[in-house]
Amino acid sequence: MAENQKDIVTIDGPSGSGKSTICRIVASRLNYTYLDTGAMYRAVGYKARQQNIDLEDGPSLGLLLDSLDLTLLPGDGDTRVLLDKKDISAAIRTAEMGLVASKVSAQPVVRQKLTQMQQKMGEKGRIVAEGRDTGTVVFPGARYKFYLDASPEERARRRYLQLLEKGEKADQQDILAQILKRDANDSSRSLAPLKAADDAVIIDSSQLSIDDVVHFILEKVSASLANSTK
Ligand code: C5P
Repeated sequence: MAENQKDIVTIDGPSGSGKSTICRIVASRLNYTYLDTGAMYRAVGYKARQQNIDLEDGPSLGLLLDSLDLTLLPGDGDTRVLLDKKDISAAIRTAEMGLVASKVSAQPVVRQKLTQMQQKMGEKGRIVAEGRDTGTVVFPGARYKFYLDASPEERARRRYLQLLEKGEKADQQDILAQILKRDANDSSRSLAPLKAADDAVIIDSSQLSIDDVVHFILEKVSASLANSTK
């Protein structure tokens, strides 16, 4: 395991647990780069859909991945995602693309290729990686690992409010059903299932604000930094 992997923060957890917002703030406070691994699975799902590839057809997905031209541009807001030089950031961030991503993410060929790309992106350290398996599989040697959870009902409520804020129509019960389906897909797959690393700090954010969670994570990171320089 490379020494510099130690400078990596991983934050895993189910969809709607608030990971993206929290990771972005933590990365910006630490002056680390934010790595949104979910965006990569979404981009592969998007491309598979574009090319009418069956989401469970491993060999065809393998060919798609061989010519994958994907760029992530982390900024102040959501990571900008370029596929074949075109901005697909908005198109991949729909509930439907979440389910498509979840399907392709169960294919070994997809996980293998994206894991390699993520490890390359993290080679120099100083990143905050967000996903389902960043602490268990992608960066098992990361120094700071967190697993962010919240009850499905609370996650559905938050997502519902977010959509309302954006002026989109939403039904809280439909959102809850989608969340439960994605949880089931992500936790039951045999390869890199959604689960906390043994050495991750588990945070249940059901009753916590974003600020509370950010504060908690930064405290843990700085306490660990202080210990390591003693
Ligand atoms: O985090 P986000 O909702 O964008 O992820 C979309 C889907 O991609 C997840 O539901 C999951 O199936 C998959 N994913 C994964 N491993 C990761 C990140 C995302 O399997 N590290």
